[in-house]
Amino acid sequence: MSVRVVARIRPLLEKELDKDVIVHPASNDDGKTSNVVKIPNPKNESEEFSFAFNSVYEQATSQEELFTAEVAPHIKSLFQGLDVTIFAYGVTGTGKTHTMRGGLKLADRGVIPRLLSGVYRRAKKITKDSNGETSVAVALSYYEIYNDKVFDLLEPPEKRTPSGLPLRAEANGKTIVAGLSERPCQDVRDFERLYIESNNNRITAATKLNAHSSRSHAILRVKLTQTTGDMVRESTASAIDLAGSEDNRRTDNDKERLVESAAINKSLFVLSQCIDAISRGDRRIPFRESKMTRILSLGQNNGITIMILNLAPIRSYHLDTLSSLNVSSRAKRI
Ligand code: ADP
Ligand code: MG
Repeated sequence: MSVRVVARIRPLLEKELDKDVIVHPASNDDGKTSNVVKIPNPKNESEEFSFAFNSVYEQATSQEELFTAEVAPHIKSLFQGLDVTIFAYGVTGTGKTHTMRGGLKLADRGVIPRLLSGVYRRAKKITKDSNGETSVAVALSYYEIYNDKVFDLLEPPEKRTPSGLPLRAEANGKTIVAGLSERPCQDVRDFERLYIESNNNRITAATKLNAHSSRSHAILRVKLTQTTGDMVRESTASAIDLAGSEDNRRTDNDKERLVESAAINKSLFVLSQCIDAISRGDRRIPFRESKMTRILSLGQNNGITIMILNLAPIRSYHLDTLSSLNVSSRAKRI
């Protein structure tokens, strides 16, 4: 079981070019980026707080660089039977969706489409190298957790029931989402069609509820089944675009938003507790304490977990950024 917590600082957007940059990676003696992020103390700006990560990616980091460094190496492990879980954590507007989904241009594609491309490439190679004796099947599930309820994103929003899909404990101790759909996906194009369609489902559903998709966790599950004769090996990659970590109670007091905030805060808190426990090597991981970590069985197998903390470098995010740095575990203040 291993966990990495890395930070990614996004570049300034066009409308932010004149803004005050207050978050930056510390540099080593050799001038290279270190694994430390620095941010001023809001109460005394002559002082800076430092947070250590496994790795820090500065503003100019491309989608390809991030993917190559943090995700690509684990595709092999996935085919060896390990589960891989990748989270994007951070305040709304800091680049979570950009990191996970990315843009349509090839160079802008995020972790998810690159992961799928890598999986299909390797699947092809394995089938070829085994002279067709090993077959590899890829199936997708995609769902969101909103207000602690689970909704299938592969289904149109009209099919949603207000209470969402129930969880069920399996004999093997795992928790599954009952009735969640799973679609086989033959290749990258198949995947892309499904992914675009289901992201539209997410937007439509949020619009209907007068909510924001930034207030739900979106979880893509890629199930890999490798079959050689009677031997079947299954493993799962999960990619999660988390709800925004900002404390919305400060700005918005209506009741609906309060319920949302409570659900988001709780699940992000439990998530960070789990990441902490895994990184300390604890035997007891509190994964049952939130729906998301329970469904993911976080830390319950021999898998690899990667948490990407997205950061916006400018002052308008100061307090939210600081709290996301404080919460995202392992990003220890030093
Ligand atoms: P979040 O999902 O965390 O709310 P987004 O991914 O929507 O944030 O990013 C907010 C804005 O910043 C978007 O316009 C996005 O295109 C842009 N952005 C985020 N990260 C980067 C990046 N690394 N390079 C260029 N633009 C980025
Ligand atoms: Mg987003």
